[in-house]
Amino acid sequence: MTVATPSSLYADLNVDAIADAPLASRTWYGVGGKADVLISPRDLASLAMLVRRCHRDQVPVRVLGSGANLLVSDAGVDGVVLSLDSPELRSVEYNQQGCVEAVRAWGGASTEKLVQELARRGLAGLEQMAGIPSSIGGALAMNAGGRFGCIGDAVHSVAVMTPDGNERVFLRESLAFEYRHTNIPDGIILWAVLRLREENPITVRDRLKEYFSYKKNSQPMSDASSGCMFKNPLLADGTRESAGRLIDLAKLKGFRVGSAFVSPKHANFIAVDTVGGRASDVAAIAQQIISRVFDTHGIMLEREVVFWGADIE
Ligand SMILES: Cc1cc2nc3c(=O)[nH]c(=O)nc-3n(C[C@H](O)[C@H](O)[C@H](O)COP(=O)(O)OP(=O)(O)OC[C@H]3O[C@@H](n4cnc5c(N)ncnc54)[C@H](O)[C@@H]3O)c2cc1C
Repeated sequence: MTVATPSSLYADLNVDAIADAPLASRTWYGVGGKADVLISPRDLASLAMLVRRCHRDQVPVRVLGSGANLLVSDAGVDGVVLSLDSPELRSVEYNQQGCVEAVRAWGGASTEKLVQELARRGLAGLEQMAGIPSSIGGALAMNAGGRFGCIGDAVHSVAVMTPDGNERVFLRESLAFEYRHTNIPDGIILWAVLRLREENPITVRDRLKEYFSYKKNSQPMSDASSGCMFKNPLLADGTRESAGRLIDLAKLKGFRVGSAFVSPKHANFIAVDTVGGRASDVAAIAQQIISRVFDTHGIMLEREVVFWGADIE
């Protein structure tokens, strides 16, 4: 880490701030170093002011969701790491614009909790997110999803705070949601209005259960990992090949580098030992898998997991 982030950037704002904040326990990998400062703004005005000041002083700002798609370097990260976990920034508002099927979910809201609550209320349209650990902001940033659809399927509009601290709202018509990619501009995803539909709560809950058990049976959900390390590569004929299959065919199931290993259950899940795990091992194994898959199949894998830190980015 380099120069410490000055506390004058946030000391007078309505925020919770922790200097030298360990990030490992805030990610699913459970490894990695500290944030120079971890800041949780308690309201939107404080968030905007902080973002403006960081922009002015060229202090890097990173947004942490639920840490399910993130590897933090063992050396930690400089600048500000933002957490949208205050009550205001993780709230969910029902009956948006007087419409029972619309909810506004703020960026820090837990997707897992939201899908459960929607089922309870008999609102359908987000079950495809069953078993995908995420905040709403993180899910939108990655357009998270899987076999049953993606979060983009439910989006009506999205609000983003741009790096200069201004708020912009994008309607569905101007947004593209593709495989693990969206054109939502860089910045902090503040909220999304999701359009759902009324359905019998039992039917919604049954669908949730079915999707969740599919995931549980096909993926090692309890390992310390970030889900799939690589995107399924696009082939010349426009279809996508399973990255897990390519890694498996390259005989890499169970392959290990230090504390990191390819899951024996799902070859695209790169896990790490819960004791003595190191981010550098995960970064190194990811690099070696890319080389080995390229040598075997002539296909270059692209990472899905986001890496933070100068030595691994
Ligand atoms: C066991 C397991 C299973 C998984 N299965 C799936 C799956 O089936 N499908 C799938 O798509 N993914 C899956 N994942 C990966 C992960 O769940 C998703 O990528 C999820 O969207 C990450 O959300 P997050 O809030 O944890 O984001 P984080 O990991 O915290 O952050 C990921 C990226 O999003 C950015 N981000 C976070 N919040 C915001 C915000 N408010 N505004 C702007 N940017 C933001 C971060 O800066 C970072 O670049 C799995 C992960 C695990 C651990």
